[in-house]
Amino acid sequence: METFSVRTRAGNELIDITAEVKSITANSGVQNGLCLVYTPHTTAAITINENADPDVQSDILKGLAHLKLESVHFDHGEGNSPAHLKSSLIGCSETIIIENGKLRLGAWQGIYFCEFDGPRNRKVHVQILVSR
Ligand code: ZN
Repeated sequence: METFSVRTRAGNELIDITAEVKSITANSGVQNGLCLVYTPHTTAAITINENADPDVQSDILKGLAHLKLESVHFDHGEGNSPAHLKSSLIGCSETIIIENGKLRLGAWQGIYFCEFDGPRNRKVHVQILVSR
């Protein structure tokens, strides 16, 4: 397993981590298999979406903000239940197929770390699985 850090700078933010994941995949030397990208945090997430138009990333954040979770009276004393909900809605991992040594991402796909309770120092784990 490989781990890298992500320093987030806003409360809610999407950060493109495609280059880091591609680099770990290339360095593994694995030709065919799976790449699991996982974040061990309860107020963050991992997603795959368009990396061509940056408006898509800000629209994802706008859409989540439109849920108006901050207006809900939650019980959790830490006061960050909106971030916990967003984390579960998006999910803490993604799995990408490795084919001929490369991630089989679509032409417009990028891998994003999603911060919902920043700014913080975060970790991302990458596990490469070999298929026969
Ligand atoms: Zn909490």
